[in-house]
Amino acid sequence: MRIDKFLANMNVGSRKEVHQLIKKGIVAINGQTIKAPKEKVAETDEVTVNGEKIVYQKYHYFLMNKPKGVLSATEDRSQRTVISLLDPKDQYQGIVPVGRLDKDTTGLLLLTNDGQLNHELLAPNKHVVKVYRAKIAGVADEDTVKTFASGMILGDGTKLKPAKLTVLKQDTEHDSSEIEIEISEGKYHQIKRMFGAVGMKVVELERISMGKLKLPNNLKRGQYVEIDVDEISRKQ
Ligand code: URA
Repeated sequence: MRIDKFLANMNVGSRKEVHQLIKKGIVAINGQTIKAPKEKVAETDEVTVNGEKIVYQKYHYFLMNKPKGVLSATEDRSQRTVISLLDPKDQYQGIVPVGRLDKDTTGLLLLTNDGQLNHELLAPNKHVVKVYRAKIAGVADEDTVKTFASGMILGDGTKLKPAKLTVLKQDTEHDSSEIEIEISEGKYHQIKRMFGAVGMKVVELERISMGKLKLPNNLKRGQYVEIDVDEISRKQ
């Protein structure tokens, strides 16, 4: 790869800015200062800018706080997708959301071009735990907790794994609840269907964690941060 492309890919600066750095004589490959932006660099080479090592990162991981009204898809003819929320410089080839949140669900969504990790996090046998907070129309109680813990069977015969439901707030006057739920699978509309099966309705749904990853408090809806692969558990 050309050194200017490499540095731009590693977010050192735009192509133009990178050319300036090269011109200044502060970019080196394996200790040798380089003069031309077209100089070639390999993954194993040591690249420094002003003496600072630029670590080659092939894959990118973005933790987004998904807003409502946006599809968890890479492209759509008429609707906004989570990819379109990424700055153009972050729209790397092959970047996709890891799993899906419904259009009206908010919260933690990981986006990456690391296909292997994507696969591992979604593989049914890995049981990655996902935690959601929700506002419910209906009063969730101890019976609901037990039903969810028993591994329910949905109307269409789908057998679910046990889910841990915690009732955070019950409001009998307004027939509503606030809950937290932990699930270890990702069936289509799973949480909405679970509450539907006990005669309740999910009014608001937000994912707050997935495996080791937690939704940071200061990350506003629609915002995202680049994270390191080490912050994502491969084991949970
Ligand atoms: N369960 C749902 O019903 N919707 C989501 O977006 C995620 C889990």
